[in-house]
Amino acid sequence: MSRVFNFSAGPAILPETVLQRAKDEMLDWHGSGMSVMEMSHRGKEFQSIIDQAEADFRELLNIPANYKVLFLQGGGTLQFAMVPINLMGARKKADYIVTGAWSEKAVSEARRFGAVHIAASTKAEKYTHAPSQAELDLSPDAAYVHLCTNETIHGVEFFGVPQTGDIPLVADMSSHLLSRPMDVSQYGLIYAGAQKNVGPVGLTAVIVREDLIGHVLPGMPLMLDYATHAHHGSMYNTPPTYAIYIAGLVFQWLKDLGGLTAMEKINVAKAKVIYDAIDNSGFYVNPVAKPDRSRMNIPFTLPDAALDAEFLAGAKERGIQQIKGHKSVGGMRASIYNAMPMAGCQALADYMTEFARIRG
Ligand code: PMP
Repeated sequence: MSRVFNFSAGPAILPETVLQRAKDEMLDWHGSGMSVMEMSHRGKEFQSIIDQAEADFRELLNIPANYKVLFLQGGGTLQFAMVPINLMGARKKADYIVTGAWSEKAVSEARRFGAVHIAASTKAEKYTHAPSQAELDLSPDAAYVHLCTNETIHGVEFFGVPQTGDIPLVADMSSHLLSRPMDVSQYGLIYAGAQKNVGPVGLTAVIVREDLIGHVLPGMPLMLDYATHAHHGSMYNTPPTYAIYIAGLVFQWLKDLGGLTAMEKINVAKAKVIYDAIDNSGFYVNPVAKPDRSRMNIPFTLPDAALDAEFLAGAKERGIQQIKGHKSVGGMRASIYNAMPMAGCQALADYMTEFARIRG
């Protein structure tokens, strides 16, 4: 068996030790005689799995006691709707900061439920930076302010937290949650589809301040009300049990590694290897303003798109896979989530340098 260096933006690489443990426990979880996939979500075995997962998640992110953790389905995309449905309230108006394709999508959905004010957009400069506080045009009467703290396609990450006073800040952290410590108390709500940096697809994590629960727009399905899930411990209906179990193993892996401070150090070093290969090449280009460059998703272009196929073929020979860029920006994209080892980043950087030397 040989595993490739998988640079997919998601579903994405998982820690090998997690996969190995899942394999070992596949047929008989802890003497239960069953796979986790075969267990009732109402049994004590699964209850212990979800309780441990939530406890570890809370510990890793230092989540304050007045926040609920919800393990939902529907992906980041359903949160684009659930956020306005639950948070618009009587104000029926929200501010959106638009820094790339994903925050744009969030806006399209929110417009179905209320007025959207664009507090900042970097579209005119092709989504290449994260706006500073001074660039934000915030409304005094918005129900909340939404942003995507890591744009998976454009590779723009917020390293500061916009200040919005009493107005709750809502963040789509789908592609960088758990990549570094986050001050949860600065946000009203955080959400993330798991399939990038947290676990397998099928699970969506929501962290929500308790006072923001219980204000759903009238006429909405119970499944779209955060209160339904909060009051039933994420088990109003059958939760994505296997995805929760694997995410729980990822949380344990992160704790064993030393938590998010240790993880951040590793991620900083990994990203540097690839950005250095870009910046020192005179060949590859990453257009994002340096202070706002994502540590998780690194898009880059070659000087001529005609070289892309050859670059990809050579990468594949070296076990470097799923590195083709998103069609809207072209070129390549290296997604280097927590589970990508330094050896993978080094292999990619070495290959990039070699390719640039031959073709540059
Ligand atoms: N937000 C971000 C930042 C994403 O990267 C994605 C998926 N690539 C989504 C939301 C949508 O997630 P899902 O496919 O889980 O609905």
